[in-house]
Amino acid sequence: ARPPLPRNESVRDYAPGSPERSAIKNALKQMSNERVELPLIINGGERRTGRRETAVMPHRHDHVLGEAHLASEAEVKAAIEAATSAWNGWSTWPWTERAAVFLKAAELVSGPWRDRLNAATMLGQSKTVHQAEIDSAAELIDFWRFNVEFMRRLYEDQPISAPGVWNRSDYRPLEGFVLAITPFNFTAIAGNLPTAPALMGNTVVWKPAGTAKYSAHLIMQILREAGLPDGVINLVYGDGAQIADIALTDERLAGVHFTGSTQVFNNIFRNVGSNIDRYRNYPRLVGETGGKNFILAHQSADVDALATAIIRGGYEYQGQKCSAASRIFVPASLWSALKTILCDEIATIKVGDVADFGNFMGAVIDDKAWRKHMRVFEEARSSNAKIVRGGEGDNRTGYFVAPTLIETDDLESRLLREEFFGPIVTAYVYRDSEFDSLLEKIDRSGTYGLTGAIFSRDRRIISRALGRLRSAAGNFYINDKPTGAIVGQQPFGGARLSGTNDKAGSIWNLIRWTSPRSIKEAF
Ligand code: GLU
Repeated sequence: ARPPLPRNESVRDYAPGSPERSAIKNALKQMSNERVELPLIINGGERRTGRRETAVMPHRHDHVLGEAHLASEAEVKAAIEAATSAWNGWSTWPWTERAAVFLKAAELVSGPWRDRLNAATMLGQSKTVHQAEIDSAAELIDFWRFNVEFMRRLYEDQPISAPGVWNRSDYRPLEGFVLAITPFNFTAIAGNLPTAPALMGNTVVWKPAGTAKYSAHLIMQILREAGLPDGVINLVYGDGAQIADIALTDERLAGVHFTGSTQVFNNIFRNVGSNIDRYRNYPRLVGETGGKNFILAHQSADVDALATAIIRGGYEYQGQKCSAASRIFVPASLWSALKTILCDEIATIKVGDVADFGNFMGAVIDDKAWRKHMRVFEEARSSNAKIVRGGEGDNRTGYFVAPTLIETDDLESRLLREEFFGPIVTAYVYRDSEFDSLLEKIDRSGTYGLTGAIFSRDRRIISRALGRLRSAAGNFYINDKPTGAIVGQQPFGGARLSGTNDKAGSIWNLIRWTSPRSIKEAF
């Protein structure tokens, strides 16, 4: 029998007075003042270019956390060369040996590195301790442990043979290097995107988000401590467009593993298209992009559960999850009760420095994000929309945006269509009798298709929504918030302009990083 899947890493609660709490507090205190140096890592060596950029805390933006070195063309090319020469060795390693590196890395995060990695995620990306723990500890560990088991299952998949013939599948890595471009909002995704291809025997050039350099730096240290050979993953900081241009015009490009905005992923597609005659292989393009995720409430919904889903799905991590709930559809019969609960809940939400564990929200990632929110509020004020709660921000010490609830009666409103990537939830109130036609409208209105949720206590309604909204969400939730997918439990990814839906943390994602060879032997 097949070995069972690993168990998900348990989530620590950092209860007041617990040893875990004092350990993470110590890590936060110490790391706040270290002013670390963040060099490039090429072929296992640290590269200092002298072109520097500081990493600050979004919730205390005058406080420098570290100083990074930025790559110019020469370093990006060196990273590609390093990945190419490391390929010769790494691609021939037995899969069990590659697995051991990532299983060891999971142990290191589960134990000795947990506090430092969580603290880097809290300080650098402004996550609360709980949001950091479910990301840079639990989910990252799960990615590594589960991917190893998915790889084993994939390799077990072998063709049938016949008398006199033995057939087999040889799961080769892709020929060339993979470019991994990772987002600021999940350290786990930043860890997964370069390592999933590497686990499958590929070598990688990794460009993390400029706003998440510190946690990327630690992941690289952890992987090296776990025994990852030099050159298998090469870390470059710098201008994303420039790095992508260099990598995407290289004939050895084997694929891109991307999470970020739809616009940037579209540019990657265009860029790859215009270079298509150069490549030795068709590059695999795997991307997870934006979302405008919905919560649809039916009149039969449990209002308390619905309110919890909106608060958690909309405002946890300041709404900066691709999966965050940003548009809600509420029947008129429930709106006034729901609005009262939401307003009461929003009034209790504390926004501030994540080192204060009483805060439920930290800051949005940077000044650009903060300004975008202020513009959305201005526009909402000058339109027919009504700002029910929030609609303001304060960027004096950190990039703080208030949890915001807006109501609009215009289904075409940009508030219901555009992704803002922040703590803004827009409500559309519909007549109870219009539920069926609303299903059609929600389906048609979506240029994205990432996550969505239905709240109802009526099985027939749930089935109807599941059927009619089949294309509207790659991750669909019934009576639960649309965020917080768990590796091995809810494979994650969306369709339409939300990405290629190669489900992160599943066998389907790993399939993209292998190019099988069919071998027939006649006796
Ligand atoms: N997997 C995360 C969730 O379910 C979201 C990932 C993302 O933001 O890209 O909340």
